Amino acid sequence: MPALSYTPIDGIVKKYEELRNGFKAGKLKSIEYRKYQLLQLAYMMKENEGRIAEALKEDLGRPEIESRFIDINPSVGDVLTTYNHVEKWTKPEGTAFDITWFLMKPTIYKEPKGTVLVICPFNYPFYLSIGPIASALAAGCTVMLKPSEATPASSALLEELIAKYLDSDLVTVVNGGIPETTKVLELRWDHILYTGSGRVGKIVAAAAAKHLTPVTLELGGKSPVFIDPACDLELTAQRLYWGKVLNAGQTCVAPDYVLVPRTFQATLVDALKKKHEQFYPDGPKTKDAYARLVNSTALNRLKGYLDNTKGKIVVGGEIDLEDRYLSPTIVSDVPFGDALLQEEIFGPILPIVPVENVDEALRYVNEHEHPLALYAFTQDPKYKEKILTNTQSGSIVFNEQVIQPATEGLPFGGIGASGSGYHTGKFGFDIFTHLRASIDSPGIVDRVLAFRFPPYTAKKLKA
Ligand code: NAD
Repeated sequence: MPALSYTPIDGIVKKYEELRNGFKAGKLKSIEYRKYQLLQLAYMMKENEGRIAEALKEDLGRPEIESRFIDINPSVGDVLTTYNHVEKWTKPEGTAFDITWFLMKPTIYKEPKGTVLVICPFNYPFYLSIGPIASALAAGCTVMLKPSEATPASSALLEELIAKYLDSDLVTVVNGGIPETTKVLELRWDHILYTGSGRVGKIVAAAAAKHLTPVTLELGGKSPVFIDPACDLELTAQRLYWGKVLNAGQTCVAPDYVLVPRTFQATLVDALKKKHEQFYPDGPKTKDAYARLVNSTALNRLKGYLDNTKGKIVVGGEIDLEDRYLSPTIVSDVPFGDALLQEEIFGPILPIVPVENVDEALRYVNEHEHPLALYAFTQDPKYKEKILTNTQSGSIVFNEQVIQPATEGLPFGGIGASGSGYHTGKFGFDIFTHLRASIDSPGIVDRVLAFRFPPYTAKKLKA
């Protein structure tokens, strides 16, 4: 793997100017050229699958199947969806027929915003970079990518491959940490798509506000899971546990905590324990069984939660600092106010919170920030309706886990503290597109609208 070297701070403006000039040069005015770059992006992912999986293993200890399923394949899928639709999405649109306006040929042109910035977190280094780059190119924008410094192998590989497969005046990578990102954020962008924590989201939004730059914020939060005793228990345990252990819990839409009626807690915990045994017959620490934490800071933060929880650790809790390993961990009997219910966990700990009933669960969720995802396991349509109509969240998912962002045709975005704006597919294209309103008014219009011109006579007022 190439080593990660940070972009020299005094070289950032040069890269930015190259993108600005790339936009002005007009190569991306051609839809064919956009498609050529999109195809290159898809080839980049396909031809380098092995190296990408290796980089993800180095950074996150990910089993290869996971990397293919959650990072590599959905990236290629996103690029191909965009490739297949770019003509349709960019086509100018008329408006619904209206007798007053139709003569003026009202038209919406889909124009690129210009030169845009994409800032990514560490947890899905490819999926969260490649889709947004595809959206920006499809919209006709030139784009700077700032990957996370926490995944050095993946970020170095992204820089190497993007330079090899795409035009450097259309797409470029700046690598680095806070000083480099701060420099990037001083520049004037035509749109910023930021994915990461709410804490940094506020820094990005404040920097964008200085230039009145529009921003899309894809943030995180604590995504709750409602359990109805009238659920399919086997399916619930299987999907819920998978949603938590995938990428060692480092998924923005991972189930953060589980709200279960007190009388059903033991049944659920038993089913989850059984899943643990089935998923890891030789233990989760064995080769290619399960991912690792991104770094020791993340692991120590999670260790702190476990040291301070008042719940009971019923599965896991084993830590190996050197290996950045925390085994999948289930904590039952977690009381409201517990250490596990403060910040987004973003790790492989599943707190089970016993409640009296669904109303208490709803009250608790509604007293907190709107989550990025909200899950419910139930076979009862009335229960689903109750959860749907009494909560707010980025997405609401019944009887499934974490795959909604990759579901073709659905928007991916948060609400309130979990973010603003949407991406993936057409929604991604839309954020980098300016809807330029146009009319082209023939002289005949003045026969109908003659009254608009002065003098404003009494006769005209009555007409
Ligand atoms: P992070 O906010 O620490 O880092 C994200 C990016 O911001 C990185 O590129 C980093 O270099 C940059 N950054 C960090 N500090 C900065 C600063 N002071 N000034 C300017 N830039 C700075 O996030 P992370 O730890 O990489 O990712 C975890 C978070 O991302 C979780 O909250 C998770 O829920 C969220 N997330 C959200 C989505 C989504 O689509 N909504 C997807 C993945 C992750």
